[in-house]
Amino acid sequence: MVLLHEAAHVHRWHGPIRFSAVLLVASLAIVIGKLFLPISTTGALWGIDMPIALWLLRMTLGLLLGIFAAWGLRWLWHRTEIDADLTACRLSRRCLSYVTETETRDPESSLPASSPLQWEATMRRSAMVLCAALHNLVGSSIRAKRATWTHPSVLLRVEKLTETFGISGKSGH
Ligand SMILES: [Zn+2]
Repeated sequence: MVLLHEAAHVHRWHGPIRFSAVLLVASLAIVIGKLFLPISTTGALWGIDMPIALWLLRMTLGLLLGIFAAWGLRWLWHRTEIDADLTACRLSRRCLSYVTETETRDPESSLPASSPLQWEATMRRSAMVLCAALHNLVGSSIRAKRATWTHPSVLLRVEKLTETFGISGKSGH
């Protein structure tokens, strides 16, 4: 499932999407920087005539835009991670259909492997496997709550998988 998660990133074009977002932010930073720079230079020439409030306003605005852009990128990274989790489970349905029918079938079900209900069961089981794999990766419940700049917390990822695929018993926590 972890490999399918990586495959899902490729399948959903997450690489190009992220690259475009970084490119857009960098371009905007250059454009905004160029727009602001001449004014700052003029202000610097005036020395003490340059109102400190205006300078502070510009710095604050620049800082806020920077934080906003960073959080925007963080949001995109987190969103694509969750999308990759969900897509991995959906892809598992397709991948497993190549395996023999007995392996893809829910042992407790009498439905044929190709039925939509059986597909749902496959995706649900994949989601449970992925939840367990995520918990194993982080190791502890404290680390499961921790999000990084590039990855949402395991707790949130498990929550999204649980919601989407209707897993009844939450794994782990
Ligand atoms: Zn990922």
